[in-house]
Amino acid sequence: MNIKCMMTVWLCLMSLVVVACAGGVGPSPTTDGGALVAASIAPLADFARQVGGDHVQVITLVPPGASPHTYELTPSQVEQVAKARLLVLNGVRLEYWADKVIQSADNPDLIVVDTSQGIEILEGDADEPGGNPHIWLAPQNAIVQVGHIRDALIQADPAHADDYRANAERYSGELRELDQEITSQVATWSNRQFIAFHPAWVYFARRYGLEQAAVIEHSPGQEPSPAEVAQIVETAKRIGAKAIFAELQFSPKAAQAIAEESGAQVLFLDPLGSSLEDPTYLNLMRYDVAQMAKALQ
Ligand SMILES: [Zn+2]
Repeated sequence: MNIKCMMTVWLCLMSLVVVACAGGVGPSPTTDGGALVAASIAPLADFARQVGGDHVQVITLVPPGASPHTYELTPSQVEQVAKARLLVLNGVRLEYWADKVIQSADNPDLIVVDTSQGIEILEGDADEPGGNPHIWLAPQNAIVQVGHIRDALIQADPAHADDYRANAERYSGELRELDQEITSQVATWSNRQFIAFHPAWVYFARRYGLEQAAVIEHSPGQEPSPAEVAQIVETAKRIGAKAIFAELQFSPKAAQAIAEESGAQVLFLDPLGSSLEDPTYLNLMRYDVAQMAKALQ
């Protein structure tokens, strides 16, 4: 997004906040008794539901099918942030819009939760100076993120602190089980190198001893040049790739071209779970591991 475009968005957001303040649009978000929690991406929304249970009402800002790397919040979503108690962010600048939205929302009660705190951040691509943001795709990072959400909920609503602690403990146990399950499954795979659509799986790869041999789009939406395609095809042949991974949030065109030239098939990974009928974090990780297994075992 260029500066002019950012300014336009900013002006739209500002005018919207004026309208929202004057009008008090829409029903109260907490009519069902739960504190409103706005989470940037679906996995974080799931964590907030797991920990908050009946005490929270959770909304996801990046809708199914959209990429968090490019999605811009709508004016009505900024209004929701203006009414929310918690804004749950992944951090590592995945929410490139966060500063502006928080300022526009002008909500003195808002607790902003950066769930990346304390997680070791891996190097990002050229346009990710803060590091690679895909921390949630390794369950041991997810456990840290769940802990931050628990702490913020306790701060917002100390009356239910025991519930938040118990829920976080139970759910973290499920995440530890998931981690073990993936560890033992990946141990049986014969191929450890893969070609990713975009660099979403570096935390996953490091945790489970896999290697991202190539990436099709370093910046999502930016298609590779013919020279890059040729290089990826060469890598795919060298590592004996059975599959090239595409992602449902982006056009599979480049992945299809590379797959055809290297004699591999195209498989779809889904780092957000939007393609799943029940898009919980546990389901999305199991789906992705099953897809990877088709290519690597
Ligand atoms: Zn991504």
